[in-house]
Amino acid sequence: MKYIVILCDGMADEPLEELGGRTPLEAAVTPNMDRLAKVSEIGMVRTVPEGMAPGSDTANLSVIGYDPEKYYSGRSPLEALSIGAEMGERDVSFRCNLVTLSEEEERYEDRKILDHSSGEISTEDAAVLVEALKEGLAREGYTFYVGTSYRHLLIQKNGKVVELTAPHDILTKRIGEYLPQDEVLRDMMIRSYDILKDHPINVKRRAEGKNPANSAWFWGAGTRPALTSFEEKNGVKGAMISAVDLLKGIAVGAGMHNITVEGANGGLNTNYAGKGEAAVKALTEDGFDFVYVHIEAPDEMGHQGSVKNKMQAIESIDEKIIGPVADALTGMDVDFRMLVLPDHPTPVRVRTHTSDPVPYLLYDSTKTVEECENYCETSGRKNGIFVEHGYTLIDRLLEKV
Ligand SMILES: [Zn+2]
Repeated sequence: MKYIVILCDGMADEPLEELGGRTPLEAAVTPNMDRLAKVSEIGMVRTVPEGMAPGSDTANLSVIGYDPEKYYSGRSPLEALSIGAEMGERDVSFRCNLVTLSEEEERYEDRKILDHSSGEISTEDAAVLVEALKEGLAREGYTFYVGTSYRHLLIQKNGKVVELTAPHDILTKRIGEYLPQDEVLRDMMIRSYDILKDHPINVKRRAEGKNPANSAWFWGAGTRPALTSFEEKNGVKGAMISAVDLLKGIAVGAGMHNITVEGANGGLNTNYAGKGEAAVKALTEDGFDFVYVHIEAPDEMGHQGSVKNKMQAIESIDEKIIGPVADALTGMDVDFRMLVLPDHPTPVRVRTHTSDPVPYLLYDSTKTVEECENYCETSGRKNGIFVEHGYTLIDRLLEKV
């Protein structure tokens, strides 16, 4: 038996007037999900424990089978794992964003935060700036790591987890009230501005009308997560297919293999078909029993508030991943169980994540009993199966319950 999770980030939504009271998942044209749904178990699952923030970090940990209340230790350490940063047990990692602050004020604390992503600066430009920070802010016990785009890391040896503010939560606000209490971190942020503001890369960015990456911003502190090995825990060898550092980090932490797919970029026009092909290859040629295919696009389209694009992302997953993977495995006479679900809702109305339970579809190629009509939020609720602890859903997939 082979096992597949198709994780459609942020796919769940609310009924929308413009769709005649249907959700984007309900309204999207999804012949493959519909066909599998007829013989699948459809239910609801709570992926974000009550009282926890609905992030892709907590929710995906649940789906992979790790109780976030026990295993979640912050987002940045998961990203640290994904880029191979070394982290000891007592080390603390911080996300280091390259941000754009307003420049007309006299004092650092009076500046306003204009952009948490410096115009989604390229990794190439960002790497040069992070190198300048490494040099200018060098300090015993602190190490900078280059990540992707505006997202970088700082790791502190034997550090302490401190409360910090996410830059995207305080856009346009005066930063004074939100600076770290920790003196070293605050001092590094203030000095980062002096190092970065007139850096040739920023001079060029301003000339091109782009937001300068003129300050570092530290947040999201956390310690190394102590995930147990996925293979030891479940007795199956697992692989991860995702374009997102966070998911790759969870895979590293869980001892799963990361498969890179060319053209997979986390956006609406990602290489859907390539991800499906990679999943089939992993299961049939490369000796994996379990593959987790993560697609970021529905979440991004939810953040954009675009119903049309969100439906398009869902339809692409159905057409280019779910259909071809199911057909390929069936064609090779491979028995498989496939779980399709979002990690959390990202409703287009609110354009952010919510904690509501999400619908799941669990298909088994060896079963042919007609049980359900379709897969959506309504049928999930109607069916009566409710998995209260999201981290136990994997046991249903792996037939342990
Ligand atoms: Zn999101």
